[in-house]
Amino acid sequence: MQTNEIKPGPRVNKINRPFWDACNHDELRIQQCDADGCGKWTYFPRVSCPYCGGGDLTWRTASGRGRIVTYTRIHRPHHKAFFPDAPYYFIAVQLDEGPLMYSRLEYQGSAEGLAGKSVEVFFIEQSPGQKLPFFHLS
Ligand SMILES: [Zn+2]
Repeated sequence: MQTNEIKPGPRVNKINRPFWDACNHDELRIQQCDADGCGKWTYFPRVSCPYCGGGDLTWRTASGRGRIVTYTRIHRPHHKAFFPDAPYYFIAVQLDEGPLMYSRLEYQGSAEGLAGKSVEVFFIEQSPGQKLPFFHLS
């Protein structure tokens, strides 16, 4: 099915801008807590650490690798701009750094055995001027 709809992009603000800017440079940057004794990575972008409450989060480049925790196959997207892409897999990825991230999996094969598979990030300019992180099997 063809459509001329433009896909909606993310709402970029002062808190998440480093994440989206890095995507435009094909880089997955997430925050890591610099508090003594914490050091946990966190995603989605925020102003304080969800583990220790510290406010010293630093943007660092993540490996871009992780494992599929769970998935669903989208047959009827909520926005018609995505109709031509369907069906596609929407996945929860546990990044090697720890945080859980939701994304799309570029893969058209069987769902059998997908949970637990290793994936790697890549970036697609899905809406004008903004790349988004997608994953493929690694
Ligand atoms: Zn912390």
